[in-house]
Amino acid sequence: MPPPVLQVALPRPLPQAFDYAPPAGQAAGPDWLGCRVRVPFGRSTLVGVVVGCAPAASPAALKVVLERLDARPLLHPEAWDLLGFVARYYHAPFGEVWATALPGPLREGGPVPAARQARRRTPADRSPIPTPPLHPEQQAAVAAVAGSSGGGFLLEGVTGSGKTEVYLEAIRHTLERGRQALLLVPEIGLVAPTLARLQAGLAVEVHAAHSGCSDGQRARAFLAMAEGRARVLVGTRSAVFTPLPEAGLIVVDEEHDPSYKQQEGVRYHARDLALWRGQRLGVPVLLGSATPSLESLRQVLAGRLQRLSLPRRAHPEARPPGVRVLDVRKRRLEAGLSPELLQALAEALARGEQALVFRNRRGYAPVLLCHDCGWSAPCRRCDAHLTVHAGGRRLICHHCGFRAPVPPACPDCGSLALQPQGQGTERVEAALAAALPGHPVIRVDRDTTAVKDGLAKRLAELGTAPGVLVGTQMLAKGHDLPGLTLAAVVSLDEGLYSVDFRAGERLGQLLVQVAGRAGRAGRPGELWLQTHHPDHPWLALLLEGGYPALAAALLAEREAAALPPFAHWALLRAEAKEVGEAEAFLAAARDHLRALDGGGRGLDWAGPVPAPMPRRAGRARSQLLLRAGERRVLQAALAAAVPGWYALPEARRVHWSLDVDPIDLS
Ligand code: ADP
Ligand code: ZN
Ligand code: ZN
Repeated sequence: MPPPVLQVALPRPLPQAFDYAPPAGQAAGPDWLGCRVRVPFGRSTLVGVVVGCAPAASPAALKVVLERLDARPLLHPEAWDLLGFVARYYHAPFGEVWATALPGPLREGGPVPAARQARRRTPADRSPIPTPPLHPEQQAAVAAVAGSSGGGFLLEGVTGSGKTEVYLEAIRHTLERGRQALLLVPEIGLVAPTLARLQAGLAVEVHAAHSGCSDGQRARAFLAMAEGRARVLVGTRSAVFTPLPEAGLIVVDEEHDPSYKQQEGVRYHARDLALWRGQRLGVPVLLGSATPSLESLRQVLAGRLQRLSLPRRAHPEARPPGVRVLDVRKRRLEAGLSPELLQALAEALARGEQALVFRNRRGYAPVLLCHDCGWSAPCRRCDAHLTVHAGGRRLICHHCGFRAPVPPACPDCGSLALQPQGQGTERVEAALAAALPGHPVIRVDRDTTAVKDGLAKRLAELGTAPGVLVGTQMLAKGHDLPGLTLAAVVSLDEGLYSVDFRAGERLGQLLVQVAGRAGRAGRPGELWLQTHHPDHPWLALLLEGGYPALAAALLAEREAAALPPFAHWALLRAEAKEVGEAEAFLAAARDHLRALDGGGRGLDWAGPVPAPMPRRAGRARSQLLLRAGERRVLQAALAAAVPGWYALPEARRVHWSLDVDPIDLS
């Protein structure tokens, strides 16, 4: 028997582990499993993780491990099992999954950072702020979760119903039982307020982990949880990988939010992983939302999630906002704003209140058009228009980052009649500032919040004085703005035309979230919706029955059309210099799958077809969609086929990626 060697998984898009000999004088053995090692790879060195120990496949030219970085495995068995599940379910290389799960410094082989020297508060330091007495519905929700020995819960609570107090109380019970709790929020901007609320209510230190923390902070929080020193962690998507050796509860706030799905590399969904972990660990998983995803609603109907509901706003005087649908057909609009809306905004400001104007397009205008010949500024590298920025002076591609000044004349006909078409947040901001002199108009979008704590800074700029916030999606998410009474959506029409089958669900969620910003404290709120389609059935459903009515109707449509969540999808994407190369790979991948699967048994495919944006950053993009009525059929087919895809000769000319349960089909 030859001596065993070490099998090392590396953070590369390669399916296999690589064999290495241990350093001279050391023996390969099971004590290496799960430890990080530095190894030579090609011309560089990489940090990988030992996943096996066995006789070498080809013992001849074995490379040697340069350095063993851990004496003991970094992850305890449950966290390790989670990585294995992710690799299997998303058909991703284990080394890539491992690298995705670890905070940067640990992934790069850095030493395990020493515990922070700063003053460590002990429970004696703090006296938690008492929670208001919970309403009976809140109590029932806490009791259901705290009294359970595992299982998934969907807390469906209208905005302002006091979901956070339920999380807090459930976490308190968890801590009392000597267990750890993890709370996920969908975006960085929500970590700080959530952490502050939990910290005020709990006697132990609450830790944070998100992409805005320094790498060192993230690594310290990760390890503190792994060692059980930390008891509660609030984080964004990747925090779902935090080791929880004494797990007691996982909470996923705003569970419907698409940011929980990673859109590059290992395309995992943090909510789904939270549910898997909870089941594995036998601890409850609490999903919360005012507008649950259709996936979770389906799980409720199937009996796999238990529904808990908070039907009323918690604050005794808070009322749900009144909704006003404004038919803007034939109306004269100024940067998309009707005279009625401008009037209502002026009145709200005069009463000393705040307002929010929602527009989901950043920049000044989405298109630059020649009024004389119809030319519209394209990106040379993408099948997309350039967006007008900087008050009309610059063109930027939102897909590849290309930038150019606005040309002085039309490149096709020489005309000077170049006009920005449509509205972005910059243009709405300018129009509001002109129409509402003397009041701050604060823009919140990716361009104005790119700095550290950008969102908090913009909100602080507004303060509590009368003023208007104008911005994108970021504004719709759970920020508590007590002085805000009027929320307006400049146009919801784009949400009605979209070809994405999730458009109705997204629009309903968005409108309810925007409405939720208005009238949170004692003052009544109002939601204004500008549209050219006031009679659209989705709007009628929302207005009559709220989100539950819309969701029920959409769920029935999905079932009738056999769309997710009633079918299971995987999207194989390929990018290449030439479209023919991308399609050749996808066709070969399909044929390989078909040969293995015999072409039947409940799996079907569509494609190869061009992606919705067929060219981006100069690369041709195509896709192949795989569908099955049952998850295990899709999974079995992928498990059989994916390893072979790496070896296809056609794969050499493309970048390809597999997206299991895709939520964005572009
Ligand atoms: P949600 O997250 O469901 O939108 P929040 O948790 O932010 O709602 O609660 C909305 C407001 O209601 C907060 O100001 C909170 O302090 C208050 N609140 C929550 N529960 C109660 C309660 N039981 N009694 C009084 N006020 C409450
Ligand atoms: Zn022209
Ligand atoms: Zn581009």
